[in-house]
Amino acid sequence: MAAIILDGTRIAQEIRGEVAAEVKSMTAAGVRPGLAVVLVGHNPASQIYVRGKVKACEEVGVFSEKITPPESARTAELLDLIEQLNRRSDIDGILVQLPLPAQVDAKKVLLAVDPAKDVDGFHPMNVGLLSTQRPGLVPCTPAGVMEILKRSNIPVAGREAVVVGRSDIVGKPVAMLLLNSNATVTVCHSKTHDLAGVCRRADILVAAIGRAGMITREFVKAGATVIDVGMNTVTNEADFQKFFAGNAKRKEAFRKKGSVLIGDVHPEVAEIAGAITPVPGGVGPLTIAMLMFNTVKAAKMRRNSGQWSVASGQ
Ligand code: NAP
Repeated sequence: MAAIILDGTRIAQEIRGEVAAEVKSMTAAGVRPGLAVVLVGHNPASQIYVRGKVKACEEVGVFSEKITPPESARTAELLDLIEQLNRRSDIDGILVQLPLPAQVDAKKVLLAVDPAKDVDGFHPMNVGLLSTQRPGLVPCTPAGVMEILKRSNIPVAGREAVVVGRSDIVGKPVAMLLLNSNATVTVCHSKTHDLAGVCRRADILVAAIGRAGMITREFVKAGATVIDVGMNTVTNEADFQKFFAGNAKRKEAFRKKGSVLIGDVHPEVAEIAGAITPVPGGVGPLTIAMLMFNTVKAAKMRRNSGQWSVASGQ
């Protein structure tokens, strides 16, 4: 039986709607959440991501300020900028778009962000809060994965979860969130022996690898929930045929654009999984929705003004 498709676009829209309602009532009470986005230089992909984030702010009513230091910016200048943003009371969230130019000490810059304004959730303080189950800011993509599970009524407690990937940005925080939700969690990586065998144990399999279609049907237990975080681009005909042969809709997109997006999970897995996130339209849309969520959460936590009322309540 074909898997249930977990519609990330719909879930993200639902979260954005809840955040917008929250922003409206906060703004009416005189507190409009604000996000500063720091975009250094002219990286074309970063420019697209930042445009998406600023647009999302407009849609949910969050104040946003885009700050664009030149490509030549040095660590000290960026540290000054972060310090100013840390002090500003109209800024609740600070997002430094990565990657930063080579001459910049990115770790130093990220560490300078006030943990209370760290809406990416990458600061060691927030990492520690997450791992000790204290309230803090949780990285957006991992938080989005949990929202998909929760809002799709997929039980987590007591189940076997396998996460493939151990990055600080996705794999580790997803694993920690699953553990905090009482799953039995295994984290896999490039040195894992018998990866397919370990993955087949999973009731919930999260792929955050960065390798097009690597998770094929032999990695998946029948009926498992498969969350595909990967975002890879297929640009050549042979790979296209390997993944999408016979898919007329994708063929048309490939012909028009010369590329198509694919996750870390092979499309054939939809024939065996119980539920699966598509790419595009699965985890991707949740990332920006959770950034908006985090900005409002940061505004509330920093001002310590009452209860957080969005349903997810993280
Ligand atoms: P990353 O930092 O490159 O980490 C990849 C992880 O996968 C590493 O832990 C690596 O293991 C593991 N890995 C690589 N090859 C493997 C193999 N053959 N077998 C088993 N494990 C393997 O990537 P990331 O930043 O976590 O991102 C992962 C994917 O998610 C990418 O496709 C990225 O584009 C996507 N992503 C999507 C969103 C979104 O909004 N949807 C957000 C962030 C990232 P080692 O640690 O041993 O090297």
